[in-house]
Amino acid sequence: MEVPEVITCVDCGQKAHRLSYPPEDGWQSGDIVAYRCSGCNDRWDLVFEDEGEGN
Ligand SMILES: [Zn+2]
Repeated sequence: MEVPEVITCVDCGQKAHRLSYPPEDGWQSGDIVAYRCSGCNDRWDLVFEDEGEGN
């Protein structure tokens, strides 16, 4: 699965860049990915869940 390299900070609306490097075997559902906001300098730890392949 893919996780974004940059997200928008929900606090200040600035860009938050990913701190975590992709694991060797790629991102897995449920992985915690850390971001650092360039505006307010807050750290965000987000959990990315795979939507599933229910089609
Ligand atoms: Zn921010």
